[in-house]
Amino acid sequence: MPGQPEPAPARAPGTQLVRIHIVTLFPEMFEGPFRSSIIGRAAASGLVDISLLQLRDHAYDKHRTVDDEPYGGGPGMVMKPGPIFEAVESIIEAGERTGRPRPRVVLLSAQGQRLNQTIARELAEEPELILVCGHYEGVDERVAEHLPADEISIGDYILTGGELPAMVLVDAVVRLLPGALGCGDSAPGDSFSPGVGGLLDGPVYTRPYDFRGWKVPDVLLSGDHARVDEWRKQQGLERTRSRRPDLLDSEAAGGSGEAADD
Ligand code: SAM
Repeated sequence: MPGQPEPAPARAPGTQLVRIHIVTLFPEMFEGPFRSSIIGRAAASGLVDISLLQLRDHAYDKHRTVDDEPYGGGPGMVMKPGPIFEAVESIIEAGERTGRPRPRVVLLSAQGQRLNQTIARELAEEPELILVCGHYEGVDERVAEHLPADEISIGDYILTGGELPAMVLVDAVVRLLPGALGCGDSAPGDSFSPGVGGLLDGPVYTRPYDFRGWKVPDVLLSGDHARVDEWRKQQGLERTRSRRPDLLDSEAAGGSGEAADD
């Protein structure tokens, strides 16, 4: 898989194949996570085609250099714009040759818009995405500005590279693709989803009924679906009130039920 765009697998009838390209210096990091669980299944059933592009394949000097010292001095190295532009343009041109529209380009960046369920849903509507993973001190500003690329962050902390953020984003997006989830998984009732009004999901329990003296709430064994639904709704609401009151503020303000990011 690493470095080699694989041919798209046969897709399930009635579903649209979503293409995700990841431009990275470390394609091998994606192997395990993308082979397993929902992403692995979605790829095997042809819902999503994920290709990994080695950025160094688009650096043409003897040492395949992708970084250089920062202008103005300072620590660390900065990723050069040239290889990134070339890599992304090669994907765009290959798509254009087969009549596909220009994909949306996302640069993973701690300084970007913070990823949330609304953004994940928006990205899940895109037929094709290109994700660019930064490294070192970051990426030459001209990439975000002129490629152009939307900058997305997965939270207010600094990671070593954009690979883990790209995996997080892909997971959040792929599980929203119609047909991606098996019957053991859920999506409409997940926290932040429209099924729970954008709030937190309530607590869940499974067997045994009595574990070390801690019992499952009796309402869940009542068989009364309306009561169970109402109980879940109330639990989700209380949980949101105590843990994430910002979600309620955003809902009252007519928002998506998700916290404002900035
Ligand atoms: N100097 C940069 C700054 O202050 O924002 C941090 C660079 S970080 C060490 C290297 C790369 O990791 C970034 O270019 C970005 O691609 C990725 N990265 C780090 N933290 C991230 C986050 N929270 N969300 C998304 N990408 C992140």
